Amino acid sequence: MILCYHGISLVDEHLWRPALYLEPSQLEQRLEFLREGGYHVLDLGVALKLLRVGELPPRSVAITFDDGTYDFLRLAYPLLKRFGFPATVYQTTYYSDRQVPVFSLMCSYLLWKGRDRAMDKGSELGLKPPLDLTSEAKRQAIVETLVDNCNRDGIDVWQRNEVAAKLAHLLDVDYSEILSRRILHLMNPREIAELAREGVDFQLHTHRHCMPEDELPFRKEIRDNRESLAKSFTEQSVHFCYPSGVHSPVFLPWLAEENVISATTCDVGLAGPSANPLLLPRMVDTSSRTILEFEGWLTGVADFLAVHRAAAQHYDE
Ligand SMILES: [Zn+2]
Repeated sequence: MILCYHGISLVDEHLWRPALYLEPSQLEQRLEFLREGGYHVLDLGVALKLLRVGELPPRSVAITFDDGTYDFLRLAYPLLKRFGFPATVYQTTYYSDRQVPVFSLMCSYLLWKGRDRAMDKGSELGLKPPLDLTSEAKRQAIVETLVDNCNRDGIDVWQRNEVAAKLAHLLDVDYSEILSRRILHLMNPREIAELAREGVDFQLHTHRHCMPEDELPFRKEIRDNRESLAKSFTEQSVHFCYPSGVHSPVFLPWLAEENVISATTCDVGLAGPSANPLLLPRMVDTSSRTILEFEGWLTGVADFLAVHRAAAQHYDE
């Protein structure tokens, strides 16, 4: 079982995006469960080698974190260390090199924070007030307008951060507080180097967290990602995770040519000996998943049930 995590809440991010963030206590509960259940928590690369030669011990688990946000260093790593569990971080690097929050996510987070307020300003940001912030869909439409406006004006990442600061001001949210806590920031190259020295495995997730559909820009994403990671450690990263789980058969030969030996998706399931190493399923653990469901997935029962449920549904059609 390859477990997939994203962020651990520094403050309230799990309330904003419950599918992406867990509270620290929930992660601790999961790790406790793995220890109590006698699971073999293995380094991803080691586990994949053992899987290939048919020597994977029973109850094997690899733990992966997507994106490499600062909360991994602050909250997840100390817990993993306490339990003695290895982990892989699929690190996207554009915002790691530039220490400002990820723009689109920050806009979404700020609008969520202001969700109870009617926003009657915003024309200076190219918005059309009054703005209704009461639903996720309406807030997301505003985020898209802000991103489109920035793209249209060709403004850089620092100016985008100023847009986010103005948005926070309009929403009466303390932006300096958010920045000081490094919410929605990625780990910087120095922090990555520090964790790599401690044994955290850093792997590929594209430089700009995107999946270009053409070969050259696609391969450039892998190369830029690798080049950025090479600032922090010397070993070449050879494992990959599809950003947002987006995968297609056309990517497989491109990944192979870039010497990528494994790639994980967000498709649910157990990675068995017959799985394509460039299309490995994972279990995306979320704050809404109960510990019972978590246990079900780990024991493979849920995988078995999901297959049979899908088959039954197919039959019903
Ligand atoms: Zn990601």
